[in-house]
Amino acid sequence: MKEISDIGVIGLAVMGENLILNMESKGFHVTAYNRTVDKVEHFVNGRAKGKNIYGAHSIEELVASLKAPRKIMLMVKAGKPVDDFIELLIPHLDKGDIIIDGGNSHFPDTERRVKYVESKGLRYIGTGVSGGEEGALLGPSIMPGGSTSAWADVKPVFQGIAAKVDDGSPCCDWVGNGGAGHFVKMVHNGIEYGDMQLICEVYQIMKEVLGLSADEMHEVFKEWNEGELDSYLIEITRDILAYKEDGTPIIDKILDTAGQKGTGKWTGTVALELGIPLTLITESVFARCLSALKDERVAASKVLTAGPAPSFNGDKKAFINQLRDALYAAKVISYAQGYQMMKAAAKEYGWELSYGNIALMWRGGCIIRSRFLGNIKEAFDKNPDLSNLLLDPYFAEKIQACQEGLRNVTATSMLNGIPAPCLSAAINYYDGYRSARLPANLLQAQRDYFGAHTYERIDKPRGQFFHTNWTGRG
Ligand code: NAP
Repeated sequence: MKEISDIGVIGLAVMGENLILNMESKGFHVTAYNRTVDKVEHFVNGRAKGKNIYGAHSIEELVASLKAPRKIMLMVKAGKPVDDFIELLIPHLDKGDIIIDGGNSHFPDTERRVKYVESKGLRYIGTGVSGGEEGALLGPSIMPGGSTSAWADVKPVFQGIAAKVDDGSPCCDWVGNGGAGHFVKMVHNGIEYGDMQLICEVYQIMKEVLGLSADEMHEVFKEWNEGELDSYLIEITRDILAYKEDGTPIIDKILDTAGQKGTGKWTGTVALELGIPLTLITESVFARCLSALKDERVAASKVLTAGPAPSFNGDKKAFINQLRDALYAAKVISYAQGYQMMKAAAKEYGWELSYGNIALMWRGGCIIRSRFLGNIKEAFDKNPDLSNLLLDPYFAEKIQACQEGLRNVTATSMLNGIPAPCLSAAINYYDGYRSARLPANLLQAQRDYFGAHTYERIDKPRGQFFHTNWTGRG
């Protein structure tokens, strides 16, 4: 098997196998390898049988099968396995060959690996791949970053296998140098957490305040999916609510403790490090943490009994429209925060991010795909330097129209004792961001009082600092 394949893939779990089949279906020849070599045989004699997919039984065999410059994609568990494979590959590769990590690696690891691999004369790409196993097979969203010169070499494969939007544009473009690709994938996952939690909050309000049945909620989500909220997550929520087991909705039987793999936590942690108010996504991570305290919540529900009993006497149809507006407005605010964080990171890490292209990459193939990402792309195409999505004329008008719904829904949920951490984070951010004056004047006075931290004054030029002897003591 001499220099026959366009690309090699290491890692034959669900993602690796499906990506290989996707690549082959687009006309590429692929060599497959896996740490546990039995799985290579199983794959080439099973799902890959009769296709232009070749099994390698060693790293040497894998490397020998690839056309130059060699492209080897790792689809293995994130963390040490990636570093281990990099070490195993380096001695066998030639100058300019490309190692690609398509797993869910944390972007600082990718930053480090790019530098390390480049120091060996090779090139490195860390790429986000979103869309789960189905996306990997049929067309994922792909967010590559790393050694910029490697993009031209991998572009045909990546854009060939990526999801395509209506006009045929691929949901894959170069994100930037270093760890930029994995950073953008991390923000994508954070936004996914926020979108999911917002839908859950709206669901709980519909169920407990309005008393809607699963079938009625299914109809609401069905209608919403035909309008501006049209998205994968609304679509699957519609279908989940209709799913019955023994004649009853399965949703009512599912335990209310959420799991998480950590990418939402990374997003929140990085937001704190960068000093960006990513309040909605961070609340969505905490909402999962609170949900996981099931036993404590059950015990507390028997002690902390004081609170309103949900009730509703108004116009249900009108309130459902307000829920739709609230969900839309909160989503815009969440994406505004996510984009604000990407802007801050680009400055911090020296990345030149194309914000419109990021929206396009998320427009199809991935979990957060939605019609609304097309509007975000347009906003950044019109003004690549847009400082906050809320200031784009289209979204500013939308928020203007939807904010009453967001306000009423959040207030109603509070008055009915229904938690809505992400909806309220959204309206709080909106009101904070549009406030020319916040109470941080008092905060600065407090800091100066107890710690002589000084303050600036509105009647003096910025950059001059003052201290008051608040107690009159020397
Ligand atoms: P996975 O379960 O995360 O990883 C399994 C693969 O990693 C196998 O090939 C396994 O080899 C290899 N591996 C595990 N530990 C290893 C070690 N210590 N040394 C060498 N190889 C090791 O597989 P996956 O679900 O297909 O995901 C692959 C990557 O894509 C992960 O980073 C994941 O986070 C990311 N991802 C997954 C999804 C998804 O929906 N599953 C979506 C997007 C991204 P053996 O067969 O020898 O154990």
